[in-house]
Amino acid sequence: MIIQLQQGIPAELKDTILQHVKEVGFKANEVKTQEGHYIVGIGKKDFDIRTLGQLPGVADIHRVSDEYKLISRKWKVEPTRIDLGEGVVIGEGQFSIMAGPCSIESEKQIELVVQHLVENNVKIMRGGVFKPRSSPYAFRGLGLDGLQMFHRLCRENGIKIITEVMQVSQIKDMVEFVDVFQVGARNSQNFNLLDALGEAQKPVLLKRGISGTLEELLQAAEYIFSNGNEKIILCERGIRSYENAYRNVLDLNAVPVLKAKTHLPVIVDPSHGIGLRDFVEEMSLAAVMAGADGVIYETHQKPEEAFSDGQQTLNFKESERLIKRMLQTYVLRESF
Ligand code: PEP
Ligand code: MN
Repeated sequence: MIIQLQQGIPAELKDTILQHVKEVGFKANEVKTQEGHYIVGIGKKDFDIRTLGQLPGVADIHRVSDEYKLISRKWKVEPTRIDLGEGVVIGEGQFSIMAGPCSIESEKQIELVVQHLVENNVKIMRGGVFKPRSSPYAFRGLGLDGLQMFHRLCRENGIKIITEVMQVSQIKDMVEFVDVFQVGARNSQNFNLLDALGEAQKPVLLKRGISGTLEELLQAAEYIFSNGNEKIILCERGIRSYENAYRNVLDLNAVPVLKAKTHLPVIVDPSHGIGLRDFVEEMSLAAVMAGADGVIYETHQKPEEAFSDGQQTLNFKESERLIKRMLQTYVLRESF
């Protein structure tokens, strides 16, 4: 059960509502976000919700039978749209393209990618400065210095930044230089990190775990929302299976299913999803037709020299073609 409280509700009224929730046998959790003030009631007992709905201070009340509540479509039918400022909005009604290298490598590299994005009217640049790598000897990112450089060059060119945060202690140093925090597949169920990002008040792109179910992804998103942050984007990035002809299995089933279950935007990462440069375009276009609200992919001025994930990274010519084709496909989808 979700109770939406009226904005600025006096404490006495809220306490009365909390008391009533307990009396009908539910555990009450209070949640305050940038957008609203809620009580999430957890319990199974059947009761007439009008008894709570009529209390002073209640704006609305909804039954939500899903395990996750606040991110469910069952109470919020309207899709969530996330406004990054300067006309950059993520969510239904637009198609968001986020592109950039796997890793931020140098000032020159950032300049070249930014120029490529500006030329193609792409407003959000990806790039990791804290990199989760399978080998401890691999390039692990330029860290905060790299992020500051990334931020400066993007700000000068009207580009928004999405970058991965790996641990709680990094949030406070990163927050002013980031437009969207990315939670990587390996951290998809790092509940301490999710709690902390709930308090961070910057949008979060949450990737599906390497072997994560959709239910686990949705519950992970509920952690962020219930800690105060409604600005969440879900990302399908491929799951591990027995198949080894490609890096992961990009599960495009997830797109329409997630969009039916949650009001949050859903985007797709075909680069990590298939892991092979030659097929990133096909899977990106399939993602558009599956109903994705955007695509995030890897591009680099010289993929063969990239410090990480070069095998799945597009050069600028391929990237430019992909952007054009995704936008054409999106127009086609919206015309149905
Ligand atoms: C990345 O986006 O570079 C990345 C490491 O992705 P994932 O967490 O999906 O593996
Ligand atoms: Mn990568």
